[in-house]
Amino acid sequence: MRTRQKRIYLDNAATTYVCGEALQVMLPYFTTEFGNNSSIHSYGRAAEKALSKAREQVAKTINASPDEIYFTSSATEANNWILRGAVQNHPSKRLIVSAIEHPSVMETCAQLVKEGYKVDYIMVNQDGVINVGDLINKLSKPAAMVSIMTANNEVGTIQYLNTIANLCQKREVLFHTDATQAISSVFIDVKEMGIDALSLSAHKIYGPKGIGALYIRNGLNVTKFMHGGHQERNARAGTVNVAGAVGFGQAAEIALRDSSINNTRIKQLRDYMIMQIEQKIEGAYLNGHRGQRLPNNINFSFSGVEGESIMVMLDFAGIAVSTGSACTSGTLQRSHVLTAMGVSDELINGSIRFSLGRNTTKADIDYTVKQLEIAIKKLRGISALHVQR
Ligand code: PMP
Repeated sequence: MRTRQKRIYLDNAATTYVCGEALQVMLPYFTTEFGNNSSIHSYGRAAEKALSKAREQVAKTINASPDEIYFTSSATEANNWILRGAVQNHPSKRLIVSAIEHPSVMETCAQLVKEGYKVDYIMVNQDGVINVGDLINKLSKPAAMVSIMTANNEVGTIQYLNTIANLCQKREVLFHTDATQAISSVFIDVKEMGIDALSLSAHKIYGPKGIGALYIRNGLNVTKFMHGGHQERNARAGTVNVAGAVGFGQAAEIALRDSSINNTRIKQLRDYMIMQIEQKIEGAYLNGHRGQRLPNNINFSFSGVEGESIMVMLDFAGIAVSTGSACTSGTLQRSHVLTAMGVSDELINGSIRFSLGRNTTKADIDYTVKQLEIAIKKLRGISALHVQR
């Protein structure tokens, strides 16, 4: 009889499991409390009550008011909505975004350009930190909004949000940040920091998939994106995913409550894994900022090997990782993030992202590093690309 293979999940940046507490609170909203929160009868009122609580829980994570939170289907929708909504009514018809944004920002911008809008991309340095001089320069001309992610999903680099928000405020340009990857580990206070809009998603913080949120500062006029009913204070049409929102709210509350314990432990494992890889594997180059990075993100390039091949070999060993962004893996496109950071094509091809989670243990890391060593040795042995150094 075959023994059950060990399975290790190191792709928490792609998605996380739904934590028990979030799942538990969601269940009644699929069965007994299934009402539409727009209905005025008792079923509807029960759903609306649950939704209000979820809105409060999500708002609390960023110190927003509950009425500044609009539930969406995803962070992708939130990003699409805010970019389009901000630029549409602004006389400049211009947006400023960083060169390393998630595809939900990059592709929306590409589409807006096709429609006649203008988008300028801010450069980043080799660690993935945005070039503030370039931002200042680009802010010298009128723009509707600056959108810069709080932390990057591929390399984990965290941006200096305060500096960026201050610059935008001085120029009276709106500032939006995509905090999807950062919300459970980076302190954000939208009021204190002067953030006008912010995107979130539940499934990166142990909540369910298919529910996200857009924070829009009160008083800001953003054009409607989804048309139809009057849901979400007439700002976002579509029946609200009540069970999803309830799970999101609970997951957000837990993320906030346990953030310091979880992040300290995960950060230690991250630094241990980085050290192990650098000690044991030659030709391994860390991508992203060494200190200013998400506690759960590790991204390495390995010379002379294909990231795809490493990923497949690790998968055979029961380990789930990703090459660059999970959203772009499966296509042969090179990571636009690593490209913007000036990483060579060879090293982009050899890049792997390990994203740790609440369940990751030191034993998982030791096993993964061992399997990684084996995989890279094998691949380099058969690869004409690898030159002994
Ligand atoms: N922004 C970032 C930074 C992300 O990492 C992701 C998910 N990979 C998204 C946006 C999109 O989130 P969702 O899956 O909720 O559409």
